[in-house]
Amino acid sequence: MLGALFRICDFLDPESMKNVIRSTFEKKYPHLVEPNIRTFERGYNEVRFKTYETPEDAIGKEFSRPLPQLGFETQEIGGVITAQANSILKDLSGSRQGFLPKFEQEQCINCAACDTVCPDYCFVWEEGEDKRGRKQMFLKGIDYQYCKGCLKCVEACPTTALSELRESIGYAESRWVKQSFPYLVGGIS
Ligand code: SF4
Ligand code: SF4
Repeated sequence: MLGALFRICDFLDPESMKNVIRSTFEKKYPHLVEPNIRTFERGYNEVRFKTYETPEDAIGKEFSRPLPQLGFETQEIGGVITAQANSILKDLSGSRQGFLPKFEQEQCINCAACDTVCPDYCFVWEEGEDKRGRKQMFLKGIDYQYCKGCLKCVEACPTTALSELRESIGYAESRWVKQSFPYLVGGIS
């Protein structure tokens, strides 16, 4: 598998991988060096590339998937949204069970630990300059539309910039910082 991976990712250097194999085994298990390199080379050489043509009737349709047209005839029975706490607007706020992260910008050191653990890309950043005039990304806030209140970000935050807050009516709406995902531009009304 490793050999095949190096063949597919042509920016990876197979010679350096062989050196790693050599240095891993040569001291304690010198007899395993050559078999492992042979296995690596076999995986590398036996990759077969295949190109598939796009079927004629699919050409031009790749990016034209329409938004669902929900109406009298096509709606789910009773207007039910079967995906829990979701909708065509991808609003996850219904998944929150009473808690959300509260963000205090003054305490934030822009380390991005929160962004690394957030499963829903809720954190919104903007480019700015630090005190020395160097470009840096600054955390603007949270797009609560996508926040399901898992609070992983609160756990990850090394400062007090994020804390657990019992959600009250209107809080998320008043602190909402919108993402600008390309697929939502133009919006749905
Ligand atoms: S609570 Fe969970 S979903 Fe919401 S911003 Fe934090 S990590 Fe993301
Ligand atoms: S983890 Fe905390 S300090 Fe780091 S960027 Fe996020 S909110 Fe700011």
